[in-house]
Amino acid sequence: MPYPVVPPLGTSGLRARPVRSAGLAGFPASLGSMPGSDGARTYEIRTYGCQMNMHDSERLAGLLDAAGYRKAGTGTQPDVVVFNTCAVRENADNRLYGNLGHLLPVKNARPGMQIAVGGCLAQKDRALITEKAPWVDVVFGTHNIGSLPALLDRSRSQRRAQVEIAESLERFPSVLPARRESPYSAWVAISVGCNNTCTFCIVPSLRGREEDRRPGDILAEIRALVADGVLEVTLLGQNVNSYGVSFGDRQAFGKLLRACGEIEGLERVRFTSPHPKDFTDDVIAAMAQTPNVMRQLHMPLQSGSNAVLRAMRRAYRRDSYLAILDKVRAAIPGAAITTDIIVGFPGETEQDFADTLDIVRRARFAGAFTFQYSIRPGTPAATMDGQVPAEVVAERYSRLVALADAIALEENQALVGRQVEVLVADGEGRKNEATHRLSGRARDNRLVHFSPVSPAPRPGDIVITTVTTAAPHYLIADGPALAVRPTRGGDAWAAGTATVPDEPGKPILLGMPTLSRV
Ligand code: SF4
Repeated sequence: MPYPVVPPLGTSGLRARPVRSAGLAGFPASLGSMPGSDGARTYEIRTYGCQMNMHDSERLAGLLDAAGYRKAGTGTQPDVVVFNTCAVRENADNRLYGNLGHLLPVKNARPGMQIAVGGCLAQKDRALITEKAPWVDVVFGTHNIGSLPALLDRSRSQRRAQVEIAESLERFPSVLPARRESPYSAWVAISVGCNNTCTFCIVPSLRGREEDRRPGDILAEIRALVADGVLEVTLLGQNVNSYGVSFGDRQAFGKLLRACGEIEGLERVRFTSPHPKDFTDDVIAAMAQTPNVMRQLHMPLQSGSNAVLRAMRRAYRRDSYLAILDKVRAAIPGAAITTDIIVGFPGETEQDFADTLDIVRRARFAGAFTFQYSIRPGTPAATMDGQVPAEVVAERYSRLVALADAIALEENQALVGRQVEVLVADGEGRKNEATHRLSGRARDNRLVHFSPVSPAPRPGDIVITTVTTAAPHYLIADGPALAVRPTRGGDAWAAGTATVPDEPGKPILLGMPTLSRV
């Protein structure tokens, strides 16, 4: 799994995009009425971090819905604010306590308001959170998602904070209800936890050892999603290539991909994140031979130096990484390959960094998520000798970004004049209001901004168009569309745009699963 866990699907595929920050700004100046118009208590979930956290937030929302809560409308104040935190991002704890501080006067002015903190930072800091911010009502760990409604009830009735942190998973979160963010594109967790010990990563100590879902459960969930209009699924795990280790089938991931290929109506299958150490030929064959598995691969490199990979405890080397790319490209011509790279890991020399630049040149990534190393308390790397000065890290980082962007631009320019099939998305194009273009993802996950089509396709519909211009992080298609295909995904999106009674004009569900507030 990538280092600071910024999701490939939720970005332009190339650079880290900040997750929307939480804070007082989301609240109106006046303190309005608390419950929704039907008297139900309302909630807002603020999500930080990776796709796994965003998917967990869908579960939290589903649980709160099932318990009778209502999602707070835009511009209204929620009765319950849930922080689903990430411990991987830099200064995550400062940011959390800052946001909790901002909420204190709001809570003081609103008797009955509750604040809950869950996710990786809750698992790490536990009761420290209620010591530092005694106005927090509930703290729940990464294995305690299902307990949130009961903990909120208990804290209300007992009038004191509830802290529940389990050390291991009792039931897989996928058995919990979910409020899905997108009606046409869905995340499906296949495993949680990780058995690796990358020295920069705190995930194993917070999410525990890998637990795999049974294939039958996963496929049943995907079939149900497809029946509801979903066209695209992204299989999620900290290390999808080791899927099956907990039930003794080393080839389970390839088999799962092939089984996804049998699901009628499922048009696009993606997965994240693979680990080069466990990437086997049967998975490449399954990717190549299963038409609905997309021609893309996001495979974290982290460093191009063998010495640094060793220090990171990443059990592959530069040659084996490149060999996987060769095999993928031989089996899947034109596959778009993206990666994650950390610059300035402790002990990284100029030669180590030159090795990273060299591998970037050879691998010809379609995009790279690039990160400057900084200390994450609680990880082995935090106390390693040879911490690289920040200014050196920053200078190397700028060289890496320049190279990665130049290569991505060349790769994208090679697509000018080619036809692309775009799954129209809501909320992918930040400049669309000004340019009037629509946006979506090509089959290889490249972001495409295209000229308006009449009648306008809905998010979830498919448009075939021709690439006219390339930029490092996206493609533009300014010619006329060659075809527009209304889909069940578009129907599902249209059905979801029915208005919420206390939120006139606002759709129930919005866009690709990249929103950080549920
Ligand atoms: Fe990914 Fe696991 Fe390594 Fe963390 S320890 S970076 S989750 S493989």
